[in-house]
Amino acid sequence: MKKKKQSDVAALLGYAGKYKGLTFLGLTLSAVAMVLGMAPYICIWLAARDLIAVAPDWSAATEISKYGWMAFAFAFGGIIVYFCALMCTHLAAFRTATNIRKQGVAHLMKTPLGFFDSNASGLLRNRLDGGASETETLLAHNLADIVGTVAMFIGMLVLMFVFDWRMGLACLLAAVISVGAMLTMMGGKNAKLMAEYQAAQDVMSKAGTEYVRGIPVVKVFQQTVYSFKAFKAAIDDYSAKAQKYTDGVCRVPQSVNLTFTEGAFIFLVPAALLIAPSALSGGDFAGFVTNFAFYAVFSAIISTSLARIMFAASGTMLAKTALGRINTVMDAPTLEITSSPQQPKDNGVEFKDVTFTYDGADHPALDHVSFKVEPGQTVALVGPSGGGKTTAASLIPRFWDVSSGEVLVGGVNVRDIDPHVLMDKVAFVFQNTRLFKTSILENVRAARPNATREEAEAALHAAQCDDIIEKLPKGIDTVIGSEGTYLSGGEQQRVALARAILKDAPIIVLDEATAFADPENEALIQKALKTLTKGRTVIMIAHRLSTVVGADKIIVLDNGKVAEEGTHAALSVGGGLYERMWKEYNQAVMWKIASGKEGA
Ligand code: ADP
Ligand code: MG
Repeated sequence: MKKKKQSDVAALLGYAGKYKGLTFLGLTLSAVAMVLGMAPYICIWLAARDLIAVAPDWSAATEISKYGWMAFAFAFGGIIVYFCALMCTHLAAFRTATNIRKQGVAHLMKTPLGFFDSNASGLLRNRLDGGASETETLLAHNLADIVGTVAMFIGMLVLMFVFDWRMGLACLLAAVISVGAMLTMMGGKNAKLMAEYQAAQDVMSKAGTEYVRGIPVVKVFQQTVYSFKAFKAAIDDYSAKAQKYTDGVCRVPQSVNLTFTEGAFIFLVPAALLIAPSALSGGDFAGFVTNFAFYAVFSAIISTSLARIMFAASGTMLAKTALGRINTVMDAPTLEITSSPQQPKDNGVEFKDVTFTYDGADHPALDHVSFKVEPGQTVALVGPSGGGKTTAASLIPRFWDVSSGEVLVGGVNVRDIDPHVLMDKVAFVFQNTRLFKTSILENVRAARPNATREEAEAALHAAQCDDIIEKLPKGIDTVIGSEGTYLSGGEQQRVALARAILKDAPIIVLDEATAFADPENEALIQKALKTLTKGRTVIMIAHRLSTVVGADKIIVLDNGKVAEEGTHAALSVGGGLYERMWKEYNQAVMWKIASGKEGA
């Protein structure tokens, strides 16, 4: 367990980069500060020695004030050095946290976009940010305290045996007993009870959150306390476990621990009594009294240092959780970036025997799929839900990388194209396009940040967004989500189309762009699509088969395989899946028209 902890801290320090040295300097200074902090005790010993040697003629002890000033100098020096130590560790800790954030974000930039479908970017950001801030406390304070305390402990052991090892041993005995008592609370079968107790605490806090979340439901449905059963059960369970742990495990050891940390001198008095006769007969009674005075005072810092060790050790637990959080980001898969990029030769797209299986899925989403889209062609992907259309579309801009086979853009494998070049080549509008919480202008300009305001306006106009802009309080400068401005799904879709139009990429990938639009929006979206797709290579997925009738080629994907391929004219009488889909679609349209008439 000890080893594990160290490697966690070491892993975190790995992010410190060139500030690692600063961390070590801070830790060393912290150790020096602690040792300096103990020096005044030696000064006290020296003062006591001189006083006792001249007793009762106190005025003969001329060195006393010198020792006093020395004690002050050491104490003050210790504070200054500790201050410097913390300056170093804080600076290093902040830089390390910054490095963690930077490296995490850099890592996420290399992560396939598809990864964010199942891993919300906000959550990842929270993890990274939380983990990074947690390391700040650890690296700025806890490590310095641990190192300082260890130095202090070693210094203490040395001092304990320097003056009179028997009295030193007596002081140490108390410390050993209290540490031993503390360890029994955490070890063996008690560790299990402690883990249970902590788990119950987690369960309770989760149930508490659920409870608060559920309050509106409870109010609306006039439910009673009965509905909080889970929360109450969690509290009861926690209470039982806490009782069991504190009462059954902690009561005796904790009492022993506290008694011996607070009363560290308890064995000192009997030890002194035992030593006294021989000290008297040996003639060095003054030395004996001096040593006793020293240990009586010194034993007080034993309890302080023990408390600090416990406190600092609990800080290293943070390293584990912090590292865990950071690793959820750092372990995200990355896309390989080619070192010798090639330029796509034209605007064609080709799938060559492509198979793709999602992480953890038991069957491929695409199974040996091959098809070709010539430059300037419009090719439609159709087929039943789950057939693999979205998956195929998302392989083109490299949201994912194929498991086997090749996706080619302009005759070059997308893996061999510089990602920036690929992104410039391909514009995509996906069904769940989300707009950023910024102005409409910036949302559109996200496609091409150096575009002028006029260009963005032209794109919005081409995307049939005039009616949207008109009703917004500040036109294209209105921030989406502010002042109650929310756009409907269809309206968002049109803004997303404006973005794609502004991007002016030669290859367009459209996934069910009209699936959830109301009829009014759909007509506008169709118009916008015409502008967007004119003269470009288009790969479109559409539910409404009427929109694919004019496509140069239709590819029917069923269960991850290409079931059919051809023009609408050929496929609609081909006797296959497409013919069935076409008939069903027409029936649905007829039914809609009929029911529309009845309603009118
Ligand atoms: P379509 O767009 O034709 O409806 P999809 O390409 O979305 O089909 O899905 C193809 C298959 O891949 C389905 O079996 C679906 O469950 C699966 N799938 C889609 N997205 C994911 C994902 N992110 N993770 C795992 N499986 C997925
Ligand atoms: Mg889909």
